Amino acid sequence: MILVTGGAGFIGSNFVLDWLAQSDEPVLNLDKLTYAGNRRNLAALEGDARHVFVQGDIGDSGLVARLLAEHRPRAVLNFAAESHVDRSIHGAEDFVQTNIVGTFRLLEAVRGHWLDLPEAERAAFRFLHVSTDEVYGSLAPDAPAFTEQHAYEPNSPYSASKAASDHLVRAWHHTHGLPVLTTNCSNNYGPFHFPEKLIPLMIVNALAGKPLPVYGDGLQVRDWLYVGDHCSAIRRVLEAGRVGETYNVGGWNEKPNIEIVHTICALLDELRPRADGLSYATQITHVKDRPGHDRRYAIDARKIERELGWRPAETFETGIRKTVQWYLDHADWVAEVQSGAYRAWVDTQYQGA
Ligand code: NAD
Repeated sequence: MILVTGGAGFIGSNFVLDWLAQSDEPVLNLDKLTYAGNRRNLAALEGDARHVFVQGDIGDSGLVARLLAEHRPRAVLNFAAESHVDRSIHGAEDFVQTNIVGTFRLLEAVRGHWLDLPEAERAAFRFLHVSTDEVYGSLAPDAPAFTEQHAYEPNSPYSASKAASDHLVRAWHHTHGLPVLTTNCSNNYGPFHFPEKLIPLMIVNALAGKPLPVYGDGLQVRDWLYVGDHCSAIRRVLEAGRVGETYNVGGWNEKPNIEIVHTICALLDELRPRADGLSYATQITHVKDRPGHDRRYAIDARKIERELGWRPAETFETGIRKTVQWYLDHADWVAEVQSGAYRAWVDTQYQGA
């Protein structure tokens, strides 16, 4: 069995579904079900005995210790996090609590479990920490992409809290010998992506006839990876990654935000044309840039490609088409996540945009 934390979120739920599609090894899924966690993402696993879901906090040491003792997983994969940069600007408390304190408590509980394992199981055990390229800070337009040697220079409360968690993971390896692996991945997109993030926000706003809010000049460059390719990279690192190492994961797909928005509009124009015949691009509106907005991220993924033979299966063109089609086919999922607390948040963000 493996323990996945945050497995009801965007990437975690994709990972759990992908894992159980390829293997019969059961998954224990620990998720607090914050606004970003959605059990509906896992509906396909209802009644499937290979998936055990527990609602709880990675910072609840007693609960985590009990789960580890009862289920004796051979690996823990930590996806659980507060993940939205804009929210971290408005209030960083939850980011510090989950991403830093929560990771610390999880590491301690896992260390206790690991030390109790018989020697052969202890040698095979892994703690895989899922992190982001945002810990490296912002790149100049002509600078080489981030390698694993790049200094940590986080600029937002979100990336600072993830950087802190990465350092804790590293320290638990160097100080306590815990067999850890860390992945630092570029921006993901794909099914089950919460519609506060750029790509799903643009798709759902476009379809709803709403403005498409683009920060500043829209020339911020991000490196995009289809979520299924991130899942395959994590699986590969878990299988064959060298203990104590970090692996950068990316798709060599650098794109300015404004180009992403135009690509989505063009796909929607083709797949679900507006009734009035105009392009969805007419809905684009530029809004005030966010503070500390990094200009460019780009991942150098040569280490994972060279050492572990991992390659993304999707190009940006195939992945974004699949994603737009998924949102067109899952209007019910969108309607549900857009209700309640999420609605209130979006209304504070994009009023009059
Ligand atoms: P998400 O916000 O969609 O999901 C996070 C999940 O964690 C939710 O299900 C939430 O309920 C759960 N959670 C939050 N706090 C918790 C706690 N204290 N205890 C247990 N569960 C908790 O995030 P995501 O986009 O799926 O990201 C998953 C991980 O991947 C994060 O660690 C993030 O930093 C990292 N990452 C994300 C991206 C991206 O583009 N989305 C890129 C690189 C790395």
